[in-house]
Amino acid sequence: MILVLLGPPGAGKGTQAERLQETFDLAHVASGDLFRENLREKTDLGKLAQKYMDRGELVPDDVTIGMVRSRLGQPDAAEGVILDGFPRTIAQARGLNEMLDAMDRELSAVLHIAVPDEELIRRLSGRWICEQCQTPYHVLSNPPREAGICDVCGGRLYQREDDKPETIRARLKVYHEQTSPLIEFYRKADLLREVDGSGGIDDVWEALKKIVADLD
Ligand SMILES: [Zn+2]
Repeated sequence: MILVLLGPPGAGKGTQAERLQETFDLAHVASGDLFRENLREKTDLGKLAQKYMDRGELVPDDVTIGMVRSRLGQPDAAEGVILDGFPRTIAQARGLNEMLDAMDRELSAVLHIAVPDEELIRRLSGRWICEQCQTPYHVLSNPPREAGICDVCGGRLYQREDDKPETIRARLKVYHEQTSPLIEFYRKADLLREVDGSGGIDDVWEALKKIVADLD
């Protein structure tokens, strides 16, 4: 079984990927981890990627595709894989199709956790930090006893630039621009399975679990 997991920042993709990995005995292949591994172990592809990064350039799709190909050849990926953070572009999606063809395997489904932007902004912009002792808070999941004031030291809470609604809105815009062509690509291929991600972690999990169980 080969799955692709798509979802915006704040959709809880990491948690769902972990549960899929455990429940269905899949290897979790996260593109960020793959990059870090290749860079750390100084593989040929890692060294190539490093060259582009040193020049401040984007790593070309064929380098990324090569890392995924080599990862899919490892023993723990034989039973099944969940791809997370790859593909990001249509070129990568085509590359994935070609590599799976060559391995005589095929993509089982593309799982898309869809969450309205306003809900994502609510989740992601809730982080506040104490300017004195750096204790983190979240207005939804871990609020301070008194708004704007640190429970630990009484210091003032502030929001990092990354956690401000306008920054998050800009990040989501980039995400949608990047992802909507992919979603169309997989919808046309009849591989897209959409899950409503506006509910809690367990609701999303139940929906995903049912879809994947039905693929078997
Ligand atoms: Zn404090």
